[in-house]
Amino acid sequence: GSTESPGLELAEPFLLEWLASVGLDVEYVRAEGNTLYYRDADGREVPVVDYAGGYGSLMLGHNNPEIIALAKSLLDGGVPVHAQFSRHPYANQVAAALNTILQRELGTTDAYSAIFANTGAEAVEAAIKHAELDRRMRMDELAAPIAEHLEAARAALLGGEASLSGEALGALGFSATERVDLAAFEDLAAEIVRRNEAVRQRPPVFLSLEGSFHGKLMGSVQLTHNEGYRAPFSALAAQARFIPRDRPEAIKEAVEAERAELFDVVVEGDTIAVVRREAPVICAFVLEPIQGEGGINVITREFAAEVQRVTAEIDCPVVIDEVQSGMGRSGAFLASTLVGLRGDYYALAKSLGGGVAKSSVMLVRRDRYRKEFELVHSSTFAKDAFSCFVALKVLELMEAEDGRVYRLAAERGQALRTMFESVRADFPEIVADIRGEGLMLGFEFQDQSEAASAAIRDNAGFFGYVAAGYLLREHRIRTFPTASAVHTLRFEPSVYLSDAEIAQLEAGLRDVCGILRAQDGERLVGA
Ligand code: PMP
Repeated sequence: GSTESPGLELAEPFLLEWLASVGLDVEYVRAEGNTLYYRDADGREVPVVDYAGGYGSLMLGHNNPEIIALAKSLLDGGVPVHAQFSRHPYANQVAAALNTILQRELGTTDAYSAIFANTGAEAVEAAIKHAELDRRMRMDELAAPIAEHLEAARAALLGGEASLSGEALGALGFSATERVDLAAFEDLAAEIVRRNEAVRQRPPVFLSLEGSFHGKLMGSVQLTHNEGYRAPFSALAAQARFIPRDRPEAIKEAVEAERAELFDVVVEGDTIAVVRREAPVICAFVLEPIQGEGGINVITREFAAEVQRVTAEIDCPVVIDEVQSGMGRSGAFLASTLVGLRGDYYALAKSLGGGVAKSSVMLVRRDRYRKEFELVHSSTFAKDAFSCFVALKVLELMEAEDGRVYRLAAERGQALRTMFESVRADFPEIVADIRGEGLMLGFEFQDQSEAASAAIRDNAGFFGYVAAGYLLREHRIRTFPTASAVHTLRFEPSVYLSDAEIAQLEAGLRDVCGILRAQDGERLVGA
């Protein structure tokens, strides 16, 4: 039943008020498959088709019967949900199942180590932290021998076996005409130590994309492009450079602007020479293969290839955030495989929890894995038996019948897309674009900030929410705009989407398009 709370509203009342203003303040009381139910004034359940799909967490629908049956049996059987610091064979099984899938899709035998977490942002942060630990260790591994090399060069100089070249001095900005004696060497050595230390002290740089969304925790929000989310907290964590998706050449430009070198010396025959070594200052390139909150933008093959080429050149790890696009939603388990992008790290969450558990995982290829990470990163709730067994079930359901779920995602997605295209064909001046893959689709309306209707124009800044409120009120359809592109409605239903549900959405979208064509703003905002 309804659980209207008396008295003070303490759990995000401001947000609730805002939802109410666009008619989205509904309390759902039951859920199953693609349907959420609320009660009307007479207490009757009203079904709503759920295209928001738990923001991507419901590939297998609300309360999937097989997952619910498993969850019940786990709890009835006294599963040890919290048994931290013990053997977790079920976690290993999840990692093994994920490896089987990844190896198949990537066509590789490389193994990926798994670090479990609880949310999407946490998996991203675990990847960032791991990449930073690895970066620092690589930096130390590079820097440690330099002190020895300086010592060896000093000894060679003192022993008269080698002399300092003018070229070496020139490399560090000293005039080559200066004396090339011990004092000159000490100046050079001090300069090398000073410069290397400055490079080592530089905060890590992250590369990310314009339109990216990687979460709202302290680290991940700095990789999230939306300024409203990111800017107030910029002092809390390392910064990212955001690269435009339509300019692959900008990747190289960003790397060139940030890259740095460590100076080293070598004794070559009777000469002490200065050599430069690429310093790992760029910690990771973090990206979504299909941007979710940025407006359902699929990166191109060409862009993916350039990411791969440039990062390989400087040995920078690629972190692929498949939190929203992964788990089969695109029609492949990893959306990145559709554009030929390969990651050193993968972040998965959302549907991994089967709609009932909160879990996520960060995968890192074994040749980049640092076992030391296991001693410095953990969470009370991560890797618990309940969510691991649920994840195993989810993966089993996805892999069943030779990947029927992936085929369904592709086929149902195509059916949805075909409907979108027919609406667009009839409303070419209203529908700006249709984007996405499988069951991760975006339907973009033309910008309404210059609309003839004042009611529409004045609400253009959150147009998608107004349209969502209308679709809910008049058509019993639940969808939302993407977080950072408010003219794009997102559609991420489960693979059990029916033709009747698609038809219901079509009626709703055609209605909204008709309203925009007629500029009937009062109807849309419900004034
Ligand atoms: N990465 C991506 C690509 C996402 O879409 C999201 C959530 N929308 C996150 C990270 C953060 O996940 P969570 O909300 O579980 O922290």
